[in-house]
Amino acid sequence: MKFQPTKEGYYGQFGGAFIPELLYPNVKELEDNYLEILSSEAFQKEYKDLLQHYVGRPSPLYLAKRLSEKYGATIYLKREDLNHTGAHKVNNTIGQILVAKHLGKTKIIAETGAGQHGVATATVCALMDLECVVFMGETDIKRQAPNVARMKMLGAKVVPATSGSKTLKDATNEAIRYWIQNPETYYLIGSVVGPHPYPDMVARLQAVISEEMKVQLKEQTGKENPDTVIACVGGGSNAAGAFYHYLEDEEVELIAVEAAGLGVNSGESAATSQLGEVGVIHGSKTILMQDEYGQIVEPYSISAGLDYPGVGPLHAYLHETKRAKFMNATDKEALDAAYELTKIEGIIPALESAHALAVLPKMDLRKEQTIIINLSGRGDKDLETYIKHLEE
Ligand SMILES: *Cc1c(COP(=O)(O)O)cnc(C)c1O
Repeated sequence: MKFQPTKEGYYGQFGGAFIPELLYPNVKELEDNYLEILSSEAFQKEYKDLLQHYVGRPSPLYLAKRLSEKYGATIYLKREDLNHTGAHKVNNTIGQILVAKHLGKTKIIAETGAGQHGVATATVCALMDLECVVFMGETDIKRQAPNVARMKMLGAKVVPATSGSKTLKDATNEAIRYWIQNPETYYLIGSVVGPHPYPDMVARLQAVISEEMKVQLKEQTGKENPDTVIACVGGGSNAAGAFYHYLEDEEVELIAVEAAGLGVNSGESAATSQLGEVGVIHGSKTILMQDEYGQIVEPYSISAGLDYPGVGPLHAYLHETKRAKFMNATDKEALDAAYELTKIEGIIPALESAHALAVLPKMDLRKEQTIIINLSGRGDKDLETYIKHLEE
């Protein structure tokens, strides 16, 4: 299995666990137990049950007829936007909160940029009656007031990170510092990033997306596989979930779409695969945007969820081996794609997901080509941005 990590968590040269000595026991505890927990009958039963009755899975696989007609292909949307809390992130937080419970943890910490992962974490902590502390950059707290309010209403404590640029990477540093001082807590990571075993664990939890796609496509078309799967990439969790069960089927084309912000070479971008170099971020070796001194370059995208300076190690490997094709979309292209989907299908997508839609006009498509686009989330949270664009 070429695209499964080694025992030490390496996908080719990428991955591993680059952590301070003091965190070693925590990470080791998780590493020693996660596979056994995930495959246990007790975990599987509770996970499946919550996904069905709490999250609302399976999410539909929807044949977008008008979109298909417009682009001359057969386009399906995997409707992660219809999940409870509005995106795919909850698939992971539901799974990890159960892992934390199996490990006997009673306190959860997380870091968040836009607040989406913070909300998904606070949600499952409320559900499980566990204490929740979310680290968030002070700048982000100001920018993302509605999500801060949601987290507080859900009972989480939101701790501002006041160092550096006061954004996601500073919140991550604070969370790691807190974890070192409070090793009894469980650190709930929101994407396929971080030290091994997090990238593999999160990919396995999001893999429910492609597990359902396989069954649904077969039911609806008789086909085993689509020709192409498209997903946007911030850290890479929704893409990892949408690609997972197709990784080893090399005839399925995988397209990962990054945010190009104001343009790949504008200096205001988050297109890591185009601009990044090999380095260590958040505990794993991967590609990331960095300056000549190895300092992280602040990324930019209109969509807060794609505004991340790295990608998970699986994606670095998919890029290096060319198993996935990496494309990108600018702010403007994503906004246009969001408006288009809204007008012709009656679905307001998240700005992140709109990046995946935005590559359709750049592709050479065939009528009989079956494409699945992972619609990672809904656009309610982005209304303010959409309305501003409408007025421009
Ligand atoms: C957070 C988020 C993303 C980006 O995160 P990944 O880990 O790359 O999936 C994409 N879409 C939505 C709707 C999000 O909330």
